[in-house]
Amino acid sequence: MTVSRQVHLVRRPDRVLVSEDFALVEAEIPELKQGQILVRNEYISVDPYMRRRMNAGKNYTPPFELGKVMTGGAVGQVVESNDEAFSVGDWVSHEFGWRDFAVLHGRFVTPIDVSQVSPSAYLGALGMPGLTAWSGLHVIAKPQAGETVFVSGAAGAVGSMVGQIAKIKGCRVIGSTGSAHKAEWLRELGFDAVINYREAPVMEQLRELAPEGIDVYFDNVGYDHLEAALDVANEHARFVMCGSIADYNTEAAPAGPKNLFWIVGKRLLVQGFIVSDFYDLRPQFIEEATQWVVSSQLKYRETIVEGLDNSVAAMEGLFTGANTGKMLVKV
Ligand code: NDP
Repeated sequence: MTVSRQVHLVRRPDRVLVSEDFALVEAEIPELKQGQILVRNEYISVDPYMRRRMNAGKNYTPPFELGKVMTGGAVGQVVESNDEAFSVGDWVSHEFGWRDFAVLHGRFVTPIDVSQVSPSAYLGALGMPGLTAWSGLHVIAKPQAGETVFVSGAAGAVGSMVGQIAKIKGCRVIGSTGSAHKAEWLRELGFDAVINYREAPVMEQLRELAPEGIDVYFDNVGYDHLEAALDVANEHARFVMCGSIADYNTEAAPAGPKNLFWIVGKRLLVQGFIVSDFYDLRPQFIEEATQWVVSSQLKYRETIVEGLDNSVAAMEGLFTGANTGKMLVKV
C-alpha cells in the first residue's frame, strides 16, 4: 500500500460538532527511515477528551491543528519495520490514531501482549480509560471496604471500570447512566443500585439510594450529578474529578452546581487529575487489571463502529450515549 487515509479537523466545531468540521484525506505513505515502523491500525479509540481538543484556546493539551490529521489512541500490527526491536506481525499500541496506516518511530509505540486478551482491550479496560479508573481510585479515592461509591457515566469506558474495581474493593456502588439497557448491564456487573438520570432528577434518586450518604464520588459528568453528590456526601468524602462530559458538546452550558459550599462544610477532598499524571503506575495497573480481566472479575463491553469513514459518527455518539463501554472504530 502507498496511500493512507486520515481524518483531519478542518474547522473548529461551534459548540456541537458536525461532519463538515472534518475531512477524510488521502496521504502518501513515506518510505521508512532508519528506526521507523509502519503500523496498520486495527482499532482506533474515540474519547471525550478529543472533543475538547477540537476547540481553540487553553486546555491541558494543545488544540488539534486545523488541516492536519488528529491524534489519539490506536492499536495495530507492524507491517514493515526498520527498527530491530519490532518485527512484522507484532501488536502495538500508540497515539497515532484517526488513520489507517501510521509511520512512527519505535520509541513512540508500546508492545502489547495479546495472548490472553483481545488487542482492543488495550484501548479500554487495559488502556487509558482503565488506567484512569484504577489510578483515580487507587491514588485519590482510596476506597475502603464497606464504603459507598457513586460514579457518574457508569456505563462508559471509565465508569464501568470504576464501579467494578470499587466492588472488588468491597464497596457498595451506585452508578448513573442515561438508558434502561445500560442500567440493566450495570446491575449484571454487580452494581448495587443504578440511577437513570433521564427518568428523574439525579438529586432525588441519589438521596433515596444513599440514605447513609456517599464516601467517594467519581465524577465523569459534572453539573447536576456533581450537585447531587455534594448534597449526599458524608463528611471527609473524596471527590475524584475526572471529567464533565455534560458540557463538552452542547448548545449551552448546563446549570449548577449551586451547593459548592458543601466542600467547606463537609471538609471534602476534591481532586482533579489527568491520567498522564499516573503513567508511571501503568505496569502495576496492567499486571493487576490483566489478572482481573482474565479471571472475569473485570468485564468490559465495546461499541465497535465499522470503518474510518464512520469515525466522526462514533465521536458524535459519545454525546448521545450511543456507546456501552468503550467506543472504538474498527479500521
Ligand atoms: P464514555 O465511554 O463514558 O462515553 C461517554 C458517555 O457519557 C456516553 O455514552 C453517555 O452515557 C455519557 N454522556 C454523554 N453526554 C452526557 C450528558 N450530557 N450527561 C450525562 N451523561 C452523558 O467516555 P469515557 O469513559 O471515555 O470518559 C468518561 C469521562 O471521563 C469523560 O468526562 C472524560 O472526559 C473523562 N476522562 C478523563 C480522563 C482524565 O485523565 N481526567 C481520562 C479519560 C476520560 P449515558 O448513555 O449513560 O448518558
